[in-house]
Amino acid sequence: MMSGFSRLGALGLLTAGALLSATACGGGSGVSEVGATSDGKPEVVAAFYPLQWLTEQVGGSDVQVTGLTAPGVEPHDLELGIQQVTDLQNAALTVYVKGVQPAVDDAVDQEKSFDAATAVTTIPAGEGHEHEGEEEHGHDEVGYDPHLWLDPSRMATVAGKLGERLAAADAAHAQAYRDRAAKTAATLTTLDQEFTKGLTTCRSRTMVTAHEAFGYLADRYKLKQVGITLDPETEPSPARLSEVAKLARAEGVTTIFTEALVSPKVAEVLANEVGAKTAVLDPLESKPSGDYVSAMRDNLKTLQTALGCTA
Ligand SMILES: [Zn+2]
Repeated sequence: MMSGFSRLGALGLLTAGALLSATACGGGSGVSEVGATSDGKPEVVAAFYPLQWLTEQVGGSDVQVTGLTAPGVEPHDLELGIQQVTDLQNAALTVYVKGVQPAVDDAVDQEKSFDAATAVTTIPAGEGHEHEGEEEHGHDEVGYDPHLWLDPSRMATVAGKLGERLAAADAAHAQAYRDRAAKTAATLTTLDQEFTKGLTTCRSRTMVTAHEAFGYLADRYKLKQVGITLDPETEPSPARLSEVAKLARAEGVTTIFTEALVSPKVAEVLANEVGAKTAVLDPLESKPSGDYVSAMRDNLKTLQTALGCTA
């Protein structure tokens, strides 16, 4: 929301941090390796929750994982403070998705980062899908929908590639990374099968969502997503609202999905307008009360109820 000026501030911090770190390293004894904890574990920074979960599963006790986005913070709007810039600079590896967080995209070291979007087949961004900040920052040019973590099958692929990346970075524990990656991928594949089975036979396949975050889920399980807004922070225009209301009526939509970090007001107005209920569908942009798998299972149950699916 504060856009340009505060981002400039973050860049200033970045420069200051870089100078500090250069000074600190300049006189170093050469013993302590950048990117390792005192007991020698690689420090891995994960940009936001689903990547943090995945990195913890694959890295296990062989890495020290730091989450860059605090719980309850809308990750798209993350601005980096001095601590976060320091974390990024000191990390042996940063795990992120290019296109989610402009501030992170600008600050990551390409040599020491893993962009999960490069590990999977991406889908095009929704029509006009832009998050605030992307426009002015030029990040709408990524050209794809960045919310890839909402498809467990793509997350399974990311797990495997992350395992290889960690194995290359820390050869002494290569086999352990590969083993955990395989185990994590198997868990995600099971979750994917639950979704496929659970969403096979449904009365409706249209989901009206608060923000357009579920493109990959829709793509994988043959649902149709209608996002009320493209950006979690922008209120839809009256024209957009009446367009969505018309579509919801035509498709017999009974539930309008809201999410924890977005005000439910707009969804409630729309639900009222078309005689539907609201229910929370979690885009997992912040840490849920359980973990990635349990939150996705909750999403599946919510979808099954809302769409009238019989498993
Ligand atoms: Zn989003």
